Amino acid sequence: MTIPDLLPLALLLGLACNASARVSVAQSSGAAAASAAEPVLASPAAALAAPAADTATRAVDAPIQCSYCDEWNRQREPFKIFGNTYYVGPAGLSALLITTPEGHVLLDGGLPQSAALIAANIDKLGFKVADVRVIANSHAHYDHAGGISALQRLSGARVVASAQGAAALQAGQPTDDDPQASSGGEPRFHFAPAARVEVIPDSGNVRVGDVTLVAHYTPGHTPGSTTWTWQSCDAGRCLNIVYGDSLNPVSDDGFLYTDPARPGVVPAFYRSIDVVAHLSCDILVSVHPDFTKIDDKLAARERGVTPDPFIDTGACHAYAAEARRKLERRVAAEGAGR
Ligand SMILES: [Zn+2]
Repeated sequence: MTIPDLLPLALLLGLACNASARVSVAQSSGAAAASAAEPVLASPAAALAAPAADTATRAVDAPIQCSYCDEWNRQREPFKIFGNTYYVGPAGLSALLITTPEGHVLLDGGLPQSAALIAANIDKLGFKVADVRVIANSHAHYDHAGGISALQRLSGARVVASAQGAAALQAGQPTDDDPQASSGGEPRFHFAPAARVEVIPDSGNVRVGDVTLVAHYTPGHTPGSTTWTWQSCDAGRCLNIVYGDSLNPVSDDGFLYTDPARPGVVPAFYRSIDVVAHLSCDILVSVHPDFTKIDDKLAARERGVTPDPFIDTGACHAYAAEARRKLERRVAAEGAGR
């Protein structure tokens, strides 16, 4: 692998970008204020403070508007899930940080407008965005991948995904075989492409420090959908954590999961559900936190409920069972022409 050799440089670049991003924001607004008041003082040094190209590459991307976007993107205080695993996403879009002394893993980037919020949540926990080495994606829709490009620029991290997921991330829109591909014409389905996305094969892994993140391909909601697993330890107790991708069979009007032209789609979807049902699973966090009732678990934990409400060895099985019911209903509805 040549990529690890590049990491120290990438990290340095990330550190440099991250550190000067804040400075350049402050300097550019300061320079603007100064030049408005005292235009004569605009100097070569002031011009150098915020070079246009750097400012563009450090900026987060334009927000996407959608009916749920504001609700999804409400601020949520970051919190520890277990051991070195933290929730750093906004209220309605999960993003998880797994920390190690050798750098961190970030799962998902939310909407474009979530990137700044996720970065601020990482800061709040006392970690550095510049120390994020790997960003892994669940599925390449705008609400989970929209912030990845900006977070990659802020950190210099490698972005990893499934084969189909990598194609969509680098295109900045769903692939043509995505059940929501025809929504690609809508501006909200386009997002800033991520650079240099590395493909992790099914059951393959990516390591940062002592964390091994395993990719489980779970196609269905999108062709590239991926569920990620790892272990986190706390006081010598190690638990299996699952970041469960959506198993929701939603699509554009006109898309049929049972289309005879795509005979593999439904069997693959059922296989994905089986994969999730049989994972070693002590804690499940879903890509939309409400799918696994994160708010209820957090409230129960804050009330002092024990054992920890986040620890539930039946969670993956229940999540898969619900998905199976939804897919069965969807397949039956398509068969009935509804
Ligand atoms: Zn989606």
